[in-house]
Amino acid sequence: MSRSEELFKEALNVIPGGVNSPVRAFGSIGGAPRFIRNADGAYLYDEDGNQYVDFIGSWGPMILGHGRKEVLEAVLDACKRGLSFGAATQAEVEMAKLVCGLVPSIEMVRMVNSGTEAVMSAIRTARGYTRRDKILKFAGCYHGHSDGLLVKAGSGAMTSGIPDSLGVPAGITRDTLTASYNSLEDVRSHFNQCGEEIAAVIVEPVAANMGVVPPKPGFLEGLRELCDAYGALLIFDEVITGFRLGIDGAQGLYQITPDLTVFGKIIGGGMPVGAYGGRREIMELVAPSGGVYQAGTLSGNPVAMAAGIAQLTLLKERPEYYGALNQKAGRFFGRIQEIVADAGLPYQVNHVGSLGCLFFADGAVTDYPSAKSSNTKAFAAYCNDMIAHGVYLAPSQFEAMFLSIAHTDEILDAVLEIIGNYFTG
Ligand SMILES: *Cc1c(COP(=O)(O)O)cnc(C)c1O
Repeated sequence: MSRSEELFKEALNVIPGGVNSPVRAFGSIGGAPRFIRNADGAYLYDEDGNQYVDFIGSWGPMILGHGRKEVLEAVLDACKRGLSFGAATQAEVEMAKLVCGLVPSIEMVRMVNSGTEAVMSAIRTARGYTRRDKILKFAGCYHGHSDGLLVKAGSGAMTSGIPDSLGVPAGITRDTLTASYNSLEDVRSHFNQCGEEIAAVIVEPVAANMGVVPPKPGFLEGLRELCDAYGALLIFDEVITGFRLGIDGAQGLYQITPDLTVFGKIIGGGMPVGAYGGRREIMELVAPSGGVYQAGTLSGNPVAMAAGIAQLTLLKERPEYYGALNQKAGRFFGRIQEIVADAGLPYQVNHVGSLGCLFFADGAVTDYPSAKSSNTKAFAAYCNDMIAHGVYLAPSQFEAMFLSIAHTDEILDAVLEIIGNYFTG
């Protein structure tokens, strides 16, 4: 028995399903999850000493690669000054100024501890601002695990086959409307029915929790127009895309200005952080300046702020990182598409910048039903082979591959060879 298998056996006895987040489980591909001991650059090392090229990157935060010196030093330095004060710090001001400076749509920002918390609070703020209750989300988009958003919630639920969570009162999801991703018609018909009751539309501007599904041209623009026409707020959940598709995220790439934006993952540099922000007149409604209550004992934690500030500062000061990352990723995902096409397979690669996904599907993947049409058995066989050959993919068809600046062309070429061998022998 490997050390990972031993640990998994022990874990199953004391942790539900043996993992602290369902997306880490290997249920859909079989076997024990690898227990990771350490990481460096583009690599993960498990408790058995196996090395893997990491395509999860902690689900996005590690855009600079693991163990980046500047981030580690900032964290260690902050630790020495104290782990938490529960009082205001200079680092929080620095972080807020950094985010407001990098993302033009954001004039004020509130730090929290996770993406889930940030989304939950942004929605409360939108409801407080508009004095309306309904929110509109898209099938296959994930916005964290708060009650009202666990409706057609993408990867974790898709993989485990739990369509909607137990324990969520029907009364709470009654105000959650669901539309088809990339279908403006669908959104328009919801607005026609009850547009005056919709507080906000929340969307992943590039859907990255049902594999990767880019917005069709005009989709995000159409959402902006409909929200404006009906006085609803547009919330971009940029927990994955923020500071990844560019320093100003998907809103910069597609040139759309949301009213509120939610961040997580990259903004914490690997520490547990989330944030929500937007126009001043909206954000001033948040307590203690306004009547929308939201609080957090560890929010703006000094160690977490140090990691986030160090990471965002590096990304800001080295704009060439994005060009290099997107170029490497474009070549890499393009090659995967060629490999499967050469093998005579109909599989589809979707990618936007350094986010990509190989769908084991027969046609274009543009929404939740087409993503779900993927052959998950074929994916499982592929994923197991990749992991056996030292390529650590998320153990689910419905997750993105995340590239980092530590993934060099040499590393990616070696991975392409492994993928090529799998499909063409
Ligand atoms: C991961 C994710 C969240 C939730 O963030 P947590 O930090 O896991 O709570 C919300 N929205 C999107 C788009 C995500 O990918």
